[in-house]
Amino acid sequence: TNKPRIVVLGAGYAGMMTTKQLTKKLSPDEAEIVLVNKHNYHYQTTWLHEVAAGTINTNQARVMISDVIDPNRVRLVYDSVVKVNKDEQKVKLENSELTYDYLVIALGFETNTFGIKGMEENAFFIQDIDSSRQIFEHIEYQFAKYNNEEDPNEESLSILVGGGGFTGIEFVGELAENVPKLCRKYDIDPNLPKIINVEAAPSILPGFDEELVAYAKKSLEDRGVEFREGAKIAECKEDAFVVNEGEEIKAGTIVWTGGVTGNSILKKSGFELTKGKVTVEDTLLAPAEDNIFILGDCAWVMDKEAGRPYPPTAQSAMQHAGTCSNNIKALLRNEPLEEFVFDNKGTVASLGKSDAMGTVFEDKKLYGKTAASMKKVIDNRWLLLLGGPKLILKKGKFRPF
Ligand code: FAD
Ligand code: NAD
Repeated sequence: TNKPRIVVLGAGYAGMMTTKQLTKKLSPDEAEIVLVNKHNYHYQTTWLHEVAAGTINTNQARVMISDVIDPNRVRLVYDSVVKVNKDEQKVKLENSELTYDYLVIALGFETNTFGIKGMEENAFFIQDIDSSRQIFEHIEYQFAKYNNEEDPNEESLSILVGGGGFTGIEFVGELAENVPKLCRKYDIDPNLPKIINVEAAPSILPGFDEELVAYAKKSLEDRGVEFREGAKIAECKEDAFVVNEGEEIKAGTIVWTGGVTGNSILKKSGFELTKGKVTVEDTLLAPAEDNIFILGDCAWVMDKEAGRPYPPTAQSAMQHAGTCSNNIKALLRNEPLEEFVFDNKGTVASLGKSDAMGTVFEDKKLYGKTAASMKKVIDNRWLLLLGGPKLILKKGKFRPF
């Protein structure tokens, strides 16, 4: 056919929502829509720490793409992107090649180790479904093994989490919930396993509201989490972090949650990068391009008032989809493009299943069970947008406290 072809790369928050919105905003004969993703499922990245701690089932955190996107309307290609060739308007996939008229790059983040010695080799990452479920398998194996050892090593039960940003804090919250259960399951003294979060800055969650940070810290400490603040990780060994002046903190499971960057496909494709991501125009077009949009964790979108980019969140990735799909429609119809405007709905972080903290509606602070309920509402809202009430019933979070 001669229809223009729109190719969306990545079925995360930004890619799924852009694809869905394009199917609503465009008539079927206006353009062909192709969605490319590594797997035949979409996963909720914001739930991966729960998969990693074993507090939810892996399948709750993923949705078959063809269950929420009509394959008769959108061509679904399950393959890995290798490189974008801008000059030829082609995308090289592992098993084939695609040409495009309009391209949406929504390939998400990659864990950033900042080149810390031994981190790639020795630490686990909360990056996708496969890397996250491997963490829980590893933790459970350490517990299952313990009573079978002739000379068991208590440190093998401990879990080290490097980086006290939101990912690290939400993860230790889930661990505080599940480690006591693992102790019961494997007949282990609950005083033996340690959950240790290591943060380089003077405090965990650097830059976040101090009162809320103090609340989170106390809540987690009360449930046995240890914090090592002002401890910069210089190296990761097989069984330890080396911090500050050579002190070793040991554990049988080591997880790095110390930072993220844009997908490395951007670099391979020759985009100009700032700290691993493309600083996009207000229209979300890549600079100097008129048919390539870059969304979500691959993009820096400038907050002009603050003079710095917005933080990479699912909340903003979803909102990018609205602007991007409107702008593709505008390009197809020769209409003016719109600029992205961020609507900040707040930040809520879970601290296990029945506690949370955060801000909503500008500056209103939430704690405890109210915040935990709000967090479930936020999580379920994405399912509603993606697949309607049916999907909430199937995969939603309802557990009472
Ligand atoms: P992603 O959601 O990362 O999706 C990218 C997609 O691209 C994936 O489906 C992946 O499989 C696919 N892909 C990657 N590489 C390839 C390839 N080469 N070929 C084909 N497909 C590929 N943000 C919030 O706003 N609120 C939260 O509560 C929150 N909690 C979080 C909790 C955790 C544990 C983590 C890790 C992050 C959290 N974030 C949260 C941040 C948020 O998850 C990200 O900002 C968001 O996922 C970015 O969305 P995205 O669409 O850009 O990419
Ligand atoms: P991050 O970059 O926000 O946090 C990483 C942390 O690791 C920082 O506190 C940093 O000081 C620390 N760190 C870095 N190098 C270190 C070292 N060598 N030694 C010790 N500590 C070190 O990364 P993240 O937590 O993965 O978050 C990524 C994005 O996802 C952010 O935008 C975040 O807001 C978002 N997110 C949001 C939520 C939520 O809203 N509930 C949850 C998770 C993630």
